[in-house]
Amino acid sequence: MHPLCREFSPVVTEPNIKLRERCEHVIDIPRVVDNGNIGPVNSALVPRYSGDATFALLPRLRDLKTEARSADIKIVGASFDTGVSYRPGARFGPAHVRQSSRLLRPYNPATGTSPFAQVQVADAGDMAINPFNIAEAIATIEEDALALTADGGSLLTVGGDHTIALPLLRAASKRAGKPVALLHFDAHLDTWDSYFGADYTHGTPFRRAAEEGIIDASALCHVGTRGPLYGKQDLNEDAAFGFGIITSADIFYKGIQEIITMLRERIGDRPLYISLDIDVLDPAHAPGTGTPEAGGLTSREMLELLRGLRGLNLVGADVVEVAPAYDHAELTGIAASHLCYELLTLMADLRAT
Ligand code: MN
Ligand code: MN
Repeated sequence: MHPLCREFSPVVTEPNIKLRERCEHVIDIPRVVDNGNIGPVNSALVPRYSGDATFALLPRLRDLKTEARSADIKIVGASFDTGVSYRPGARFGPAHVRQSSRLLRPYNPATGTSPFAQVQVADAGDMAINPFNIAEAIATIEEDALALTADGGSLLTVGGDHTIALPLLRAASKRAGKPVALLHFDAHLDTWDSYFGADYTHGTPFRRAAEEGIIDASALCHVGTRGPLYGKQDLNEDAAFGFGIITSADIFYKGIQEIITMLRERIGDRPLYISLDIDVLDPAHAPGTGTPEAGGLTSREMLELLRGLRGLNLVGADVVEVAPAYDHAELTGIAASHLCYELLTLMADLRAT
């Protein structure tokens, strides 16, 4: 034997009975079980930086299913970025948001609720989407969204580029049985007609949705828009579809409370879909995205806007355009994961009451 080599002798240790005795359902690691709902990995017993990166360390839907359980709210990844016009990379968004969500804790002091105890929440993994065929990708996303909500559950989708909002809106309006109200948080309008002759891109989903009649023309609003456009006709065409616009500057001048009041009045009790492009945040708060624009919201402002929507009839939501290759120190991932957490809080609160 070479003198630098040591003979391998396997170390035999007793199994960690103590830890395994603490095991809860689903998988053999301890979880927070509250109100009968299986929650995140118990980070007092397992370091939160180890193990699988599910969203907020929640159980996987497939693991719940092995115990014949399902989830009231599912969070799913749509890893697709074939619709982008500038920087690619949002296909890696779901994995990045999950990794950045490890520090989320079960109790939300902003609402005084524990969303993962109010109802069962689970990570449904990622949709398997064709990256070479946008039409097929859109069809897959709609089918999967319908399948995941067939039991009446709520769905939060993490993108992926903004193309995915169209099939998600189709599914949401089918489930609602009518066109849905839309709050669209984004630096951009995303109501352009086509790009290089392509009708289905991340810059066109809400024009297609308006044309298809799946969004309620009396309750549509872009929030956080800013940055240069191709021309004044962009705004004219957008307004013709019924969209209201609250610009990033409006939020600065009017303040969060007034904006919340305006949004709540516009939405009323209609079924509401929220589509949140992470580029609504300033690049200082979310550099990891495809088409950044200066002068955006802070993550604090965006979190407060979502908290102000408590009690509205939220039927579905997405957080899109997280592109981790341009992120630094998980800034964008952390912002996105906290925004997802607030959306889950809204959904859980609604279902529990
Ligand atoms: Mn955008
Ligand atoms: Mn967008």
